[in-house]
Amino acid sequence: MNARRPRDEAILVVEDEEPIRELVATALRFTGFRVETAVSGGEAIAEARNSPYDLIVLDVNLPDLDGFAVCRKLRSNGDQVPVVFLTARDDPADLRAGFTGGGDDYVTKPFSLEELVLRIEAVLRRSRSVENEPAHLVCGDVMLDEDAHRVWRGGVEVTLSPTEFRLLRYLLLNRDRVVSKTQILDHVWDYEFAGDPSSVETYISYLRRKLDDRDGLLIRTVRGFGYALRAPGVEAPRR
Ligand code: CA
Repeated sequence: MNARRPRDEAILVVEDEEPIRELVATALRFTGFRVETAVSGGEAIAEARNSPYDLIVLDVNLPDLDGFAVCRKLRSNGDQVPVVFLTARDDPADLRAGFTGGGDDYVTKPFSLEELVLRIEAVLRRSRSVENEPAHLVCGDVMLDEDAHRVWRGGVEVTLSPTEFRLLRYLLLNRDRVVSKTQILDHVWDYEFAGDPSSVETYISYLRRKLDDRDGLLIRTVRGFGYALRAPGVEAPRR
């Protein structure tokens, strides 16, 4: 997470709701990106045509064209700019529409700015990597291929359920940080799911078993708070 990042990337934030638009734009500027904004699908398409962007944050519910239509239009214009959808919709069919419409990721409202920035950085890393090179999240000898939805530990493939996969992905995106059970519930489980912390504990134990981490040296328990994914044998530097 502390990798030095080139921060000359330009991001277009498309959102008709002003408070969200300003919040997202401000957070991204604070992170170091150059940011422009658009308030409608039509404006987004015109703006993307006028100047190249490294990534577009695209709200789905816009007053004119919906975000999926905007994305299809961009692709049909030959623009392969990565798109991260902001969506309040949680219908899987809508999300599929987003991905088949050429989106690279989506964040469901309400979202945390931290998560949005992480997602954006992951998509940018992926788009910067050599074409066709698989996007991998790595911690120690654990490797997760986001595109192929495959996971390995020590070179041996591990089969995970979709929830286990999302949980591991979230831990990898936050590696070396402590995440609370509430954060995990918010990011890994659907928002409408009335989850409780014990289901997090259950899935952590599934994941430990499948990753042969029975001693919890990879997925560490931080008592009273949550979990932290760390490469075994690598301790956080003392300050
Ligand atoms: Ca909207």
